[in-house]
Amino acid sequence: MDVKLLVVIHAEEEFDWDQGFNASNTAVTHHHALIPFMGELIETGAKITLAMDYPFIESAGGRAVIAHCQKNEAECVEFAAHLHPWVNPPRSAEEQSATDFESYPCNLAPELEYEKISRLTERIHAVSGASPVTYLAGRYGYGPFTSDHLRALGYQVDLSISAYCDFSHQQGPDFSEYTNALFVENAIRHIPHTSSWLSVSKRVEKKANRCPAWCRTVKSKHVSRFLAKVLRLSRHRLSPEGNDLSQLQAITQAQMAIGQDVFVLSFHSPSLVAGMTPYVPTIKDCERLKNTTRCYIEWFQRELNGEIVLAKDMAVTQG
Ligand SMILES: [Zn+2]
Repeated sequence: MDVKLLVVIHAEEEFDWDQGFNASNTAVTHHHALIPFMGELIETGAKITLAMDYPFIESAGGRAVIAHCQKNEAECVEFAAHLHPWVNPPRSAEEQSATDFESYPCNLAPELEYEKISRLTERIHAVSGASPVTYLAGRYGYGPFTSDHLRALGYQVDLSISAYCDFSHQQGPDFSEYTNALFVENAIRHIPHTSSWLSVSKRVEKKANRCPAWCRTVKSKHVSRFLAKVLRLSRHRLSPEGNDLSQLQAITQAQMAIGQDVFVLSFHSPSLVAGMTPYVPTIKDCERLKNTTRCYIEWFQRELNGEIVLAKDMAVTQG
C-alpha cells in the first residue's frame, strides 16, 4: 500500500485556550522555537504545510518564519491559510471577543466569512508573494458556503474536516459521519485531519472506523459505557498533542486496516514552547512532543515506506 503523509502546522498566535476568544491576543513569540524545529523535520525528509492565520502573518515573528522558509526551505514548505475569525479583519472596534458560536467561521454571515478569508488571502500574498491554495478553518469551522468562497478566491484544497468528530455541543460542525476518506466537492479537494477510533478489540475498532454511523448509534445507548470502559473505545487525532508515538502508530495502522492511505499529522505552533498550549505545561512535555513528531515522521518513511507531500500536491488539477 502506497501511503502519503501531510505534516500540517497550525501557525497561530499565543492565547490562553481557557479564556475565550479575545481580539487582543495576537502575540507570536514562539518563532524562535518554530524555525529550528521545522528545519529538523525537513532534515528528516518532511515537507510542511504551514497554515498561517492573520496575527501570525502580521507579526514580526511570523514574518521571520516566512523569510527563513523562503531563503532556506522554499521547496519543502507550503504557505496555506488558517482562519481565526476573532483576530482576523474585518472586525468592528467594539467587538473585543467572540462567543463560542462566532469562533467557528462557518457560523458567520456568508458575506463576513468570505470577507475574512479574502483579507487573510490578500495578506498572505502581500507578505509572502504566494497565493495560497490550501485552506484550514479555525476550529474546523467549515460550513455550507465555505467552498464557494474558496473557489472564488483560488483555493483548491481544504483541510478543515475533522473525521469522526462532532463539535455541535459547542455550536460547531458535526463531522461524526465523516471518515478520513478524501473527496472532491465543488472542485475543492477535501483532505480530513486524520482521526481514528482505537479499541482493545480490533473488530470493534474496525467497525467504528469503517461505519461512523454505527458508532454514533451505539454511543447514544448505555452500551457506550461498556464500549468506553471494557473495550476502551476512544477517538484520537493524529497529533503529538495528547498522543505518544505508539498511539500515533496505532491510529495509522487502524486506518490502514480500513484502506486509508493519506494521513494528516498536525499540531499547533505554540505547542513548541512550554506553557503556551494545554498540551505542554512543562519543558519536558515540549521535548516529548517534538521527539514524538520526529520519531513518527521517521517511522512513517522508514517502516511504511511512506511519502511526505504538501497539501497543494493533492489538488484536483494535480491528478
Ligand atoms: Zn487555529
